[in-house]
Amino acid sequence: MITVLSGGTGTPKLLQGLKEIVDPSELNIIVNTLENDYFSGVYVSADIDTVLYTMADLINDEFWYGIKGDTFITHERLKEIGCPELLRIGDKDRATKIQKTLLIEKYGLKKACQIQAENMGLACKVIPMSEQDSDIKIITDIGELEFHDFLIKHQQEPEVLDVKFSKVLPADGVIDAINNSDAVIIGPSNPITSILPILSMEGVREALKNTYVIAVSPIIGSDSVSGPASKFMKALDIDVSSVGVATLYKDFLDNIVIDNEDVNLEQELNQIINKVTITNTIMNNLGVKKNLAQLIIDSIP
Ligand code: GDP
Repeated sequence: MITVLSGGTGTPKLLQGLKEIVDPSELNIIVNTLENDYFSGVYVSADIDTVLYTMADLINDEFWYGIKGDTFITHERLKEIGCPELLRIGDKDRATKIQKTLLIEKYGLKKACQIQAENMGLACKVIPMSEQDSDIKIITDIGELEFHDFLIKHQQEPEVLDVKFSKVLPADGVIDAINNSDAVIIGPSNPITSILPILSMEGVREALKNTYVIAVSPIIGSDSVSGPASKFMKALDIDVSSVGVATLYKDFLDNIVIDNEDVNLEQELNQIINKVTITNTIMNNLGVKKNLAQLIIDSIP
């Protein structure tokens, strides 16, 4: 069994490779829930939906959000009638979100995800990191912002001074998934807003210490491949590099995968992490995704 810790962009790219070479019934994917909230009356768990759509080959992988080829009739109509929405939710995607909202009322988030995964024909387990409500605030030079306001309304532009999030308890099955795995893969997701929330839950770091853990760095050179990770790391005084990423995971990490471009960091990283693997990590086609996934699987002792 293999467990993957995931956010909603970098790790799903790796999942596209992994699902080609690993039997999906051998995969647990623990997904960040920190940014989950209600928008336009529906529960939006963007990272979970991205993982579900990725595994079901439905993802719009231009934006790593929503369903490919979706229409936006409801979104546009809401604007026309004076009810604009912050998130651009597609029609089919909205159907998933309505269903999830109804399922949550009845069964809670974990079971809702399980039912939706089964409906999409998935054999893997998609496990929300927590079933508890959470909150994340981006402290900026223009004030305290909700995560999606920072990301969308303010286009990630304000200077970030701090990132604060609430601590939640792991969902049932999260610790067991880690304990019962031959390896845990930390995908190249935002270390601050996608991975740290998972790591900060009670029992997660301890469980990881007893498992083989391999992480792919989301930082190449001194910047993230996409998104605000580097801004968030800077705000928290963490070196924006694969070394900075390694320091966040060093108490449990066995192997860090960095990009060819960062070969010069190998020695420094070797002082923190047992093994450093160097390869092409820019996942701009399926070949790279599969190669990276294969390298990771081959590294499992
Ligand atoms: P979010 O939930 O949308 O923030 O997405 P994630 O946390 O899963 O992923 C965002 C991170 O993925 C960013 O820090 C990027 O640097 C990283 N990322 C995206 N694409 C790639 C890629 O092809 N290679 C690597 N190494 N990192 C990537």
